[in-house]
Amino acid sequence: MKCVMCDNKKELKKSQATIKYKECGLDNVTLHGVECHRCDQCGEEYYGFGDQEQLHSLIAKALVLKKGILNGKELRFLRTFLGLSGAMFATRVAVAKETISRFETGSRPISKTFDVLVKSLVANKLPDRDYDFHDHWLKQQGKNFKLIELNAEKDGWHLKLAA
Ligand SMILES: [Zn+2]
Repeated sequence: MKCVMCDNKKELKKSQATIKYKECGLDNVTLHGVECHRCDQCGEEYYGFGDQEQLHSLIAKALVLKKGILNGKELRFLRTFLGLSGAMFATRVAVAKETISRFETGSRPISKTFDVLVKSLVANKLPDRDYDFHDHWLKQQGKNFKLIELNAEKDGWHLKLAA
């Protein structure tokens, strides 16, 4: 891989990095073992997130298992994970578009009922062969965690929830 930001013609050095995955819209997601190519000349860094669909599924799974009520950023992540725009999502859950927007910006707290509704929609989208997850979800055993950590391994991403 070569740098596209400057005229450096050399192959970029490959390393593994630990980064905060801010691109997903959440502040508490850390990725370990991300493939990183860095340009020595201009300092540009290129990250490879591997199987992004699997990565996002695991983050969604963590949020569904979260014990407390979702916050606005988490709701936005899950709505995007469901592949719905604000308007489409509003129609789907029979709530005004403005209300969804207020939930997502945090100007209006999310109710327990709405929290369960969103988590159900997402749980139904996650693979049903993941028995542990669905068992956990059906029993409504929430998990307490502050940090979502994911490790890149040979067979893909692995999730770890930390207090
Ligand atoms: Zn460069």
